[in-house]
Amino acid sequence: MNWDFLLPVKLYFGSGRINELSDIIEQRGFKRGVLVCDGIFRENGLADEIIKKSGGKLTAVFSDITPNPTTENVNNCVKVLREENAEFAVALGGGSSMDCAKAACAIKNSTDLIDDYHAGLKKLNSADKIPLIAVPTTAGTGSEVTFVSVLTNEQKGLKAPLGNPLLYAEAAIIDPVLTLSVPPRVTASTGLDVLSHALEGYWSIFHQPICDAVSLSAARTVFEYLPVVYENPSDLNAREKMCEASLLAGIGFSYPKTTGSHACSFPLTNIYHVPHGEACAFTLDYFLRLNAREEKDGRIDRFVKDCGFENAERAADRIYEMKKAFGMRCTLSQIGVKDEDIRELSEKSMHPNMLNNPVKMTVDSVEEMYRSLK
Ligand code: NAD
Repeated sequence: MNWDFLLPVKLYFGSGRINELSDIIEQRGFKRGVLVCDGIFRENGLADEIIKKSGGKLTAVFSDITPNPTTENVNNCVKVLREENAEFAVALGGGSSMDCAKAACAIKNSTDLIDDYHAGLKKLNSADKIPLIAVPTTAGTGSEVTFVSVLTNEQKGLKAPLGNPLLYAEAAIIDPVLTLSVPPRVTASTGLDVLSHALEGYWSIFHQPICDAVSLSAARTVFEYLPVVYENPSDLNAREKMCEASLLAGIGFSYPKTTGSHACSFPLTNIYHVPHGEACAFTLDYFLRLNAREEKDGRIDRFVKDCGFENAERAADRIYEMKKAFGMRCTLSQIGVKDEDIRELSEKSMHPNMLNNPVKMTVDSVEEMYRSLK
């Protein structure tokens, strides 16, 4: 078995580490940068605090970013980076802000828009890139350590990942204190995204040993701490454990890539506006049962046993229970999918990531799944 592994992101992990921002900027000799952040932080004052902590090196803010960022968001962000002559950027937010910033930084020194890269018509070029410091504020996507930016082209109605090593951040500051304000519903959805990354990274046909090890650690942590942090949002220890799990699961899925549940999540988000983590979790327990039932080598069985479950059925039951307890939607009717739309949803779920699933799926087998989730 051949495999590659590279993680070029310098990590600064721990409560209060955001206070080291000016040192981290200084060490790299950056002089002039832009803060790319979720709009919520302009309202609650965190953006201003981060600007102060940058030691005057952040000279402008871009915050016009929608959840599931669009190629248009990225193009507008690039415009600000170019106008400001930015040498670097800091991304502050969940996956949406980090992905927007990653893509914008990757093309800052070109004259291009992001659309052709997202459509696969052009390849990113290292000369066009400026460095990014990623500061996640949700424990979910692991985008701070992945070489992926998930973007939506609204004209084409296409949500898809853009993947390239040039999308890696230069550094990431993972400060659990910044996640204390995440509301319970977002905590649940993003936490289930972590579990999806861990399971899918592990069972992907491209699985590999380093990613297996971190995925297992991440999954064990989510099963233990996500219910705790959902019930006690101010439990900093539990927040820290979820940040750790998010980071590890991000590493866990980067190379193996995601599989069936993420493939299904794209149309559930695009068409029915289900938040990303909730959309991934919608089919996660189904794929766990299916992939475990059909496996020949006992890998999934060992994984769930290492997570403390008797077998995959019991682990899938637990995921379902967590979804119900967190108020996540578990049926198509709750999401608003009509019977006559199930075939189209099945067709649109055949995203390339579906090919990484260990059990080969067809439009018919995806439709069969959705019909069992009506
Ligand atoms: P998000 O960034 O869209 O944020 C979700 C909500 O939480 C928003 O309303 C935001 O304002 C709010 N929020 C964020 N931090 C907060 C805080 N500290 N306090 C209060 N509210 C806060 O959600 P997300 O799940 O982090 O990211 C989802 C996006 O990331 C999707 O587009 C998804 O496809 C993408 N994604 C990317 C990768 C990757 O490797 N690049 C991996 C998985 C998912």
